Amino acid sequence: MIMRPGIRRFGIVALAAASVLSGAPAPAARRKAAAAPAAAPPAIAAEVLSTRSRMDDDLRTLCDEIGGRATGSRAYEAALEWGKEAFRRAKVDSVELESYDAPAKWEGVRAAASVLQPRRFPLRVVSFGNAPSTRGTLMAKLVDAGNGTRSDFDRLGTRARGAIALVRTKPMTSFDDLFAEYLAGPEMLKAAQAGGVAAVLFTSTRPRDLLYRHTITFDGTIIPLPIAQVAREDGLRLARLLERGLDLTVSLEIENQVGGPWKGKNVVAEIRGSEKPDEIVLLGAHLDSWDLGTGALDNGVNCALVVEVARAIASGPRPKRTVRFVLFTGEENGLLGSRGYVAAHEAEMDRYDAVLIHDIGDGRILGYFTDGRPDIHGSLGQALAPVSGWGAAGMNDEAILGTDNFDFLLEGVPNLIANQETARYLADYHAASDTLDKVDMAQARKNAAIAAVAVSGIANAPTRLGRRQSRAEISQVLEKSGIADQMRTYGLWADWESGRRGRR
Ligand SMILES: [Zn+2]
Repeated sequence: MIMRPGIRRFGIVALAAASVLSGAPAPAARRKAAAAPAAAPPAIAAEVLSTRSRMDDDLRTLCDEIGGRATGSRAYEAALEWGKEAFRRAKVDSVELESYDAPAKWEGVRAAASVLQPRRFPLRVVSFGNAPSTRGTLMAKLVDAGNGTRSDFDRLGTRARGAIALVRTKPMTSFDDLFAEYLAGPEMLKAAQAGGVAAVLFTSTRPRDLLYRHTITFDGTIIPLPIAQVAREDGLRLARLLERGLDLTVSLEIENQVGGPWKGKNVVAEIRGSEKPDEIVLLGAHLDSWDLGTGALDNGVNCALVVEVARAIASGPRPKRTVRFVLFTGEENGLLGSRGYVAAHEAEMDRYDAVLIHDIGDGRILGYFTDGRPDIHGSLGQALAPVSGWGAAGMNDEAILGTDNFDFLLEGVPNLIANQETARYLADYHAASDTLDKVDMAQARKNAAIAAVAVSGIANAPTRLGRRQSRAEISQVLEKSGIADQMRTYGLWADWESGRRGRR
C-alpha cells in the first residue's frame, strides 16, 4: 500500500527546488549528464550490479514459488522462512523473526455472485480485504448507490434496507484517483451501514476484468459489512440495467477466514556497526502482499532489494553504524508490522539515524522523500552524491501516510521513502496482474545499487543524518503535510492524540 496525492506535481517541483538548493545542475542539464557515461560507481554499487547479485533468484522464488502472501496465510509463513534463509545466505550477523500484536486475522477463501432475476448471469467478484463473510448465500435486490457517498445512500432511503448496494467508480488512472478512492472509503462504509444495506458491490476501477484486493480500514480491524469488488465490465452492465428501471435480484456469497487478535511476525536482520554500533540505520520493505497476484511490484521486488543491499554491505568493510534490515508484514492490513516493530523498539528510537523504506515497485529512483524534513537536505545530499549522476539524488519534502515509514515519522525519527517513477506501478497495483513478468530486473538492480549507496552513505557518515523531532515538531509536520486530516478521515487520529501511537 502506498497512497498519496499529486505525485507528478510534487516530484517535479521538489526536484527543481533540490537542484537549486544543492547547486546541482538543473533538470535539463542533469538529463544530459545522466545520458553521458557515468563516473565509476562506488564499490558498494558495483557489488550490487555484479554477477554475484542474488536479486533475480530471490525474487523468482518469492513470487513464483511462494506467490501472493496475505499476512496470516500459509504463503505468508513460507515468505517469513524465505526471508530468514535469504538473509542467512547474505551473511548478515543475525536474523530473527520478531512478533507483534495484530488486531484480527483475515484470509480470503472465495467469493461468488450472480444476477438471478430477471435473467441469470454470473458476476466476477472478489472480497475486499478485512471484510467479513456473508452468512451463507445472500440473495437481495440490487440498488444503485451512485458513487457511494453519504448523500447517495441517503437518497435511497428505506430502499437500502437489506439490499445489495452497487457503487459506481471512475477509472483509476493516477495517484490522485487512487488517493481519492482510499479517502472516500470510510465514508462509504459508514453511509452503507447507516442505510442498512446487507452488502456492497464496488465497481473495479480497472477495465478489462482486472480485479484487485482493496481495504477500507487502516487499523487492521475487520469491517462490519461484506464488501465485494465486481469486475468493471460487470459493474457497468449492472448500472445500465438499473438505469433502465429493471428490478435485479443478486446472489452474493463471500467466504473469508476471520479470526481475533493474534501475533504477526517481521523478519529482522542486522549487521553490527564497527564504531557506533548503538546507532541504527534501518532499511525496510513490506514482505506481505495481496493475494490475487504474486506481489512482484508490491512489494516483492523491494524485499529482494533489501536482501541484496544486506548481501552487498556484508561482503564489504563493516559499516560504522549498525544497519538493520526489516521485512515488515501486515502492511497491507494497516501498517501493522511496522507499528508493532516501533512499539517493541520504543526504547531505542533516540538511536535511529534514519529509516529508509522502499515501496513503489521497480520504478526508477529519483531520490528520496524526506517526509517533512528539509533540515536533513545537507546530510542526505552528501549520502546521495555518488548517485547524483544517475538522477537519483532528488529530495522531496512531502510527508506520506501509506507505508511503513509512518510510525517512525510519528516517533520523530528521520524517515525516507524512495521516490520512484510510478508509471509502471499503478496499472498492476494490488491486482491479479502483479506478477514477476511485470518486473524490469535491470531497473530493479539499479535501484538496489542506489539504495546500497544511500544506506552505506548514511551508516558511514561523520555525523548523524538528522536528530529526533519533538512531539511539537512532529505535530507540525502532520498538520502542514495534510497527514493530520488523512489520519482523522481514516480514524487514526485518536491514537496519536492520546499518546497510544507516536512520540509522547
Ligand atoms: Zn506496498
